[in-house]
Amino acid sequence: MRTLGQNFLVDTRIRDSIVNCAGVRSSDLVVEIGPGKGALTRPLAERAGVFVAIEVDPVLARDLRRVFRSEDNVHIIQDDILSCDLRTLVHEHSANLPKNHRALVVANLPYYITTPILNKLLSDSGLFSAFTLMVQLEVAQKLTASPGSRGYSELSVKAQYFTEPVLLFEVPPTAFDPPPAVRSAVVRMRVRPEPPVDADSDIMFSIVGAGYGQRRKTLRNALLASRLFAGKKDAVAEVLSCASIDGGRRAETLSVEEFAAIARAYARYKAGEDN
Ligand code: SAM
Repeated sequence: MRTLGQNFLVDTRIRDSIVNCAGVRSSDLVVEIGPGKGALTRPLAERAGVFVAIEVDPVLARDLRRVFRSEDNVHIIQDDILSCDLRTLVHEHSANLPKNHRALVVANLPYYITTPILNKLLSDSGLFSAFTLMVQLEVAQKLTASPGSRGYSELSVKAQYFTEPVLLFEVPPTAFDPPPAVRSAVVRMRVRPEPPVDADSDIMFSIVGAGYGQRRKTLRNALLASRLFAGKKDAVAEVLSCASIDGGRRAETLSVEEFAAIARAYARYKAGEDN
């Protein structure tokens, strides 16, 4: 089932490093996405208070259920991670854990759906304390990229707003069976208890989406074409000037703080317009 991104981890040293980096405690809820044949599952389940794995492949899920059938704290769910209600899953499975427990995600991700999974985890990041993930090296570089550098993208802004992404180490294709066509890396993303900037996040991500929706355009023209400004040139000029951002720049050069400054200026402009 190569279509399901089934490249199984076979390098036990890499496995041990991932498990150590995840830093699981006995009071934690651990959610593993795509446990596959269970390379990470046993060591994670042994360390966690409660362990839940979500595997879409019915045969792999059935086999793992058999392996863990006598372990009450281990739950193997056969489901597609993208349609899984993480809020309900986390609440249901943390009911018997201490009040100060953490919920962690640890996974060797199926690469064909890396971006939708990351977007889902980031949207639900308030449920979790950290994500420790194996991803393509290129994605790891995007997550940790600085403004203006290669790979800095909408995903970088979102990841750096909700979490503190760190590239921990690279992993060669030979660590997997079958080996994937790309190099991989393990990233740890600690979820921020508070956003790093002061701005309405809905407005801010509308600005980010507008900027990146028209990547080839300058920020001024991208905002002008967006629903936020609907062609109002004066409004774009006023907002960019209040935020002290040069409209001739492109979205991929803006830091999270600069997007936040535009969002604050937009909120003030809107408030003025409504009065
Ligand atoms: N964790 C195992 C390991 O490290 O060897 C397997 C990792 S493999 C790269 C990705 C796993 O994700 C596969 O077991 C695959 O069946 C599973 N998977 C693929 N799509 C999925 C989805 N939509 N929801 C949940 N699991 C999925």
